[in-house]
Parts: sequence; structure tokens; C-alpha cells
Amino acid sequence: MKIAIYPGSFDPVTFGHMDIINRAYKMFDKLIVGVLNNSSKKPLFSSEERVKIIEKLYKDTKQIEVMSFDGLLIDFAHQVGAQVIVRGLRAVTDFDYELQLSQTNRVIAPDIDTIFLTTNLRYSYLSSSIVKEIASYGGDISEFVDKDVAIEIKNKIITKRS
Ligand code: ADP
Repeated sequence: MKIAIYPGSFDPVTFGHMDIINRAYKMFDKLIVGVLNNSSKKPLFSSEERVKIIEKLYKDTKQIEVMSFDGLLIDFAHQVGAQVIVRGLRAVTDFDYELQLSQTNRVIAPDIDTIFLTTNLRYSYLSSSIVKEIASYGGDISEFVDKDVAIEIKNKIITKRS
């Protein structure tokens, strides 16, 4: 069975991430969306909340599984039996870091390959941080995230303020 992981922070998941997920899952028997539980970053949503949000979006797609992980991505890949890591490339600014990461991972785990999907041009500017920034000023984020995700973001911002 061909299993791939699409790892990231997904804080929160955007249409850019969803574009990569929608294209990637069709290439494999299973796509695991790996939500990084990164304690050094201060996320808006906990990793459990991020997993739930993405699970809800893909509840009808059997090939997609959502899991949180911490530690080394390569260890997680081995644990779940994945042979491929999927990453999205927005612009050349992503490239340096992604190249370094994938080459390092390949030294540690030569059995795992990284593939890159280039972003849909419509979303090449889009990042989770921009969405959070706009939402924090009460701006309209409906062009950037699913409507259910937009509701979660607004509620979270209100709860954090009160
Ligand atoms: P990370 O903290 O690992 O960068 P992100 O959640 O920001 O996590 O991104 C996860 C993956 O999704 C990365 O490969 C990133 O390049 C990709 N990505 C982020 N935003 C977009 C977008 N707008 N279009 C396509 N890919 C994206």
C-alpha cells in the first residue's frame, strides 16, 4: 500500500493546504495529514483542535487520515509505514528551506522520498499567519479558508480575548 504523509502546522488549514491535500490523496492509497504538535511555536489552535478541524473537512474521504505527531517527521513516517512525504511549494522563498529539509531527511532515512507539489497560483500568496492576522482585525477570511474553519477561527479569537 502506498502511503504518503503531508506534514505541517495547519494553524489553521487554508485553501492552499486543501488544494495540496485534494491533489495528493489521489496519487496514493492513503494520505496522512500530519499535524505537527510544535511546543516551541504558540499556536492559535491546539494540535487536537487542528486535527478535528481537518477531520471534519474530509470526513467523507476514506483515503485521508489526520493524525498529530511530535518529534522527528521521519520517525513518524516510519511509524505509520509511509514511503513518501508531500510538501507544497508556494514560491522560491519556500525552496531553500524545503530543499534543506528534504535532503536532511533523505540522509537520515534513505527509504523515504519527498515530493513537492507546486501551489495553485490562486493560493500562492496564502499562509496561515496571514489568515490569522486578517481575522484578528475582524477582516473577511472567506476567500482563504473553508466556512467552517472561518467560524472556528472567529470563535477562537473571541475566546482568547475574553
Ligand atoms: P510548516 O510549519 O511546516 O510550514 P504549514 O502549515 O505552514 O506548516 O505548511 C505545511 C505545508 O503546506 C508546507 O509544505 C507548505 O509549504 C505548504 N503550504 C502552506 N501554505 C500553502 C499554500 N498556500 N499553498 C500550497 N501549499 C502551502
